[in-house]
Amino acid sequence: MGVPFVDLKAQYHSIKEEIDAALIGTMESCAFTLGPEVAQLEKDFAVYAGAQFAAGVNNGTSALHLALLAAGIGPGDEVITVPFTFIASASAIHYTGARPVFVDIDPVTFTMDPAAVEAAITPRTRAIVPVHLYGQMADMDPIMAIAKKHGLFVLEDAAQAHGAEYKGSRAGSIGDAAGFSFYPGKNMGAAGEGGMTVTQHAEINRKVRMLRDWGAEKKYHHEIIGYNMRLEGIQGAVLRVKLKYIEKWTEMRRDAAARYNAMFKGTGVVTPVELSNRRHVYHIYAIRTKERARWIEALNAKGIQTGVHYPFPLHTLKAFDFLGYKQGQFPNSEKAAAEVLSLPMYPELNAVQQEEVVSAVAALQAEALQLA
Ligand SMILES: *Cc1c(COP(=O)(O)O)cnc(C)c1O
Repeated sequence: MGVPFVDLKAQYHSIKEEIDAALIGTMESCAFTLGPEVAQLEKDFAVYAGAQFAAGVNNGTSALHLALLAAGIGPGDEVITVPFTFIASASAIHYTGARPVFVDIDPVTFTMDPAAVEAAITPRTRAIVPVHLYGQMADMDPIMAIAKKHGLFVLEDAAQAHGAEYKGSRAGSIGDAAGFSFYPGKNMGAAGEGGMTVTQHAEINRKVRMLRDWGAEKKYHHEIIGYNMRLEGIQGAVLRVKLKYIEKWTEMRRDAAARYNAMFKGTGVVTPVELSNRRHVYHIYAIRTKERARWIEALNAKGIQTGVHYPFPLHTLKAFDFLGYKQGQFPNSEKAAAEVLSLPMYPELNAVQQEEVVSAVAALQAEALQLA
């Protein structure tokens, strides 16, 4: 039969009439960049994320980049993040002129190890960017405590974590600001690219709004050199429809994850760990194996699509050679990068499809146990 890694079409078809109306509505209004749909989305998404303010931008990377710029971060500054993430987390730091400083992850949750943060702080450190990887929030209490002690800005990379919670607080509600992505494959996906910076600070919000729109609050009154990083009207309209369903879809993802966990029970397959005080939103459901390449090949042969998020920790990438890190410096990140394997995960994934995935993976695991 085969199982796809994601199925964007299934979601579209489940709300096709509303999405089509949103698309046509934008064509009729001709509000193509920002506009009333984006403004309403910003209001509603701020509420959803538990933040005071939200500013729509052209993608999640810009949401991070502009938040850092708005906080005054630039050349000569250091910003702490993790190497086990998508490259955008560190690229956004680099774009400001600041230096990304890596700290290792917790080996169980794959998120920032707060103990490593304290050790990486120097007089140049200005900010911390914890990543809510796979949809589970980083350990925010100790991170916020360290930030407070040293006067650092905290930017949550919430690109994968719409609706995730930490001790009852939403992603986007704890740090000084957070960046969300609406890339089509993310938990809340646009009809193209999109992103949102949310913040508790009026001044950060004001600056992000200026920076995304050529550095002007009022047309042609350019106060600073800004960018063209506005969210499109069509994305505002589509995302407003999707915001109505995100909680339902998140619960469907969580149900699918619970089914995987139950089906894998007793097989020896290493499944994701959701800590008791978190709401994991399962952007990614990643298992671990030391024989990943062989498993991917075997699963692909059965039509079961998989992913690897992410195969190379950032400090080992050619692009970040100039930072001077060495292989071996972040062992938890390196081990995770070598072992994680993302299984099909999306709200509409059903138990029959999951049985197919689990029986194939369990057979591989049984083989591995026999060989060991
Ligand atoms: C997707 C992603 C981004 C970047 O978002 P885009 O919308 O693709 O620019 C940043 N950080 C993480 C962890 C992501 O997964």
